[in-house]
Amino acid sequence: MSQTPDVIVLGAGIVGAACARSCAQAGLSVLVLDRGPIGGGTTAAGMGHLVVMDDSEAQFALTSRSCQLWQELRAELPEDVEYDNCGTLWVAADDEEMAEVDRKARFYQERGVAVEILDAAGVASSEPELRPGLAGGLRVPADAVIYPPCAAAYLLADARRKGGRVEMDCNAGVAAIEGPGSVRLTSGRQIQGGIVVVAAGALTPLLVPGLPIKKRKGHLVITDRYPGFAHHQIVELGYLKSAHATQADSVAFNIQPRKTGQMLIGSSRQYNAEGTEVEPHLLGRMLKRAESYMPRIGQLSALRVWTGHRAATPDKLPIIGPVPGNDRTWIASGHEGLGITTSLATAEILVDRLMGRNPAIPAAPYDPARFEHAAKEPTHA
Ligand SMILES: Cc1cc2nc3c(=O)[nH]c(=O)nc-3n(C[C@H](O)[C@H](O)[C@H](O)COP(=O)(O)OP(=O)(O)OC[C@H]3O[C@@H](n4cnc5c(N)ncnc54)[C@H](O)[C@@H]3O)c2cc1C
Repeated sequence: MSQTPDVIVLGAGIVGAACARSCAQAGLSVLVLDRGPIGGGTTAAGMGHLVVMDDSEAQFALTSRSCQLWQELRAELPEDVEYDNCGTLWVAADDEEMAEVDRKARFYQERGVAVEILDAAGVASSEPELRPGLAGGLRVPADAVIYPPCAAAYLLADARRKGGRVEMDCNAGVAAIEGPGSVRLTSGRQIQGGIVVVAAGALTPLLVPGLPIKKRKGHLVITDRYPGFAHHQIVELGYLKSAHATQADSVAFNIQPRKTGQMLIGSSRQYNAEGTEVEPHLLGRMLKRAESYMPRIGQLSALRVWTGHRAATPDKLPIIGPVPGNDRTWIASGHEGLGITTSLATAEILVDRLMGRNPAIPAAPYDPARFEHAAKEPTHA
């Protein structure tokens, strides 16, 4: 690789790793910088649910395109990525949520996504640990689950195989973007590249101040091995109310069967919670909610509890593209609770735009220019 890389990617979470791989695949010389370890940011704290979502047309386009890219990549993913085509089961507690099942089913079917509406008996027979009396549900069989840190490691290794260079240690911490294509590391070293792609997750605004990205904290619990306790990624439809809450802390029931037989239980959402500490009151609320859907969940032995920060934007869409007025600083961040799912489509859009190609889906809904008045010139971290 030449001394001056075409692209410097800041951040080796799943988004930075995917961008680096796509850049290298397109023949660009790429250097990835992270203060390490691989996937040590939110990527190591997320659930790894690959899910098609219907909050808006733009969210649907990005999630469905990305799920398709994950399916295409599946054959080459190593075992430790634990790709599991378990599908999603959206659970409706009452008639109001059942109406949402019908609406959601129509939305997906009109756009070519296979779904199956289940009645109360159908939900009970597909997931016997759910409490009796639920109204029904919606199964999305093509949705899947992966183990995000190993997925990020694979994408990064593939970027290396395609000629990319990766520097990951405390000396690769980035202090500031200083002028077009130029970064200064915390060690004082200056690196010059063609363009800089900032994929620093929830920390992105420290490098590009003014971007409307806020931290949104979440809690997760992982249990010991209970193979067969859940078969799908099961999500309550009330999850949508939780994801849409703009101020209040919220919890929603969400359980993921891991290939190891462990159960990953979530989740909570909080703004204005900068610390990474586990908050017992919120954890308690979250587990109570889970128990109200799966009464025996309290009997499972929990091994570990942790938190992570999602990078939330006001319109719930990520920010992908050049900073307005500064076409040598690009952003790939703001993926909130969908960055594992949407990493591959994010990388595809970014690189198609860099190469002057037409992206597979329209790029405008994710363009930083939609927040033009908020974003400023990049400065010091
Ligand atoms: C509880 C929870 C559950 C989730 N569940 C899901 C899910 O089921 N499905 C899904 O699709 N998504 C999920 N997400 C969201 C997903 O985890 C994130 O969107 C995704 O991991 C973001 O990846 P990233 O690469 O943008 O950021 P990160 O993984 O945070 O990576 C950013 C990287 O940048 C590095 N960095 C930052 N600043 C600097 C600097 N100055 N110098 C050098 N390096 C720097 C960090 O070290 C880090 O490695 C969940 C998130 C949470 C919190």
